[in-house]
Amino acid sequence: MSHYRAEGVVLRSFRLGEADRVVVVATAEQGKVRAVAKGVRRTRSRWGGRLEPLTHVAVQCWRGRGELDTVTQAQVLHPYLGIRADLERTAKAFVLLEVADQLVQERHPTPLVASLVGALGVLEAEDPPLLVPAFLLRALALEGAAPQVAACNECGATDQLVAFDGPAGGVRCRAHASGRGLSGEALGLLQAVLGGQLRWALAQPAGPAVAEVAELAGELMEQHLDRRLRSLRTPVRP
Ligand SMILES: [Zn+2]
Repeated sequence: MSHYRAEGVVLRSFRLGEADRVVVVATAEQGKVRAVAKGVRRTRSRWGGRLEPLTHVAVQCWRGRGELDTVTQAQVLHPYLGIRADLERTAKAFVLLEVADQLVQERHPTPLVASLVGALGVLEAEDPPLLVPAFLLRALALEGAAPQVAACNECGATDQLVAFDGPAGGVRCRAHASGRGLSGEALGLLQAVLGGQLRWALAQPAGPAVAEVAELAGELMEQHLDRRLRSLRTPVRP
């Protein structure tokens, strides 16, 4: 039994009994934390909105013998008001949260949480068209499941890369084309995101290549998780 402090993002919460809620937080230090916030449903709760989903928080928790820890203190580091004020950004943020919820394991620290906080910070300040696909691709890379994008994953050729085969794990040259067609622009974006030029990739305007990368990043993540991402398939545009 022990106290611990951790920082992370509230992914979701659900009610527990009459007055309490369970909050699920992706933290850098402890991996996924599930903890009870007592009395959070009371009108004059001392928690206020501090444990709402899509909030960057620092929490102190008590870990007892039970399955759930108990939140003893919570402080908002960032409420992401800029994201919440925009329906489309909010929808994008919830894709990131859903992916983190699937990938972050309980009591397993992971760099994915820092990546999540970084992506939410970018989304708060601006709204790069490639943000969500880039997060998905980099999350796959952290999982050791990034697609091969530098060379044909059948023969190693680095030119004439015209196709992308998700189940086969990467790009394909003209001779070994399988899966779907891939434009040169989309290939450039994939190589930038996975090859250390993320900043350049995020500065690219929306267009067909970004849409191509978004579609295949979503498919790759769903393939990796072996399930559909609900938030990715919720239309938000009015
Ligand atoms: Zn080939």
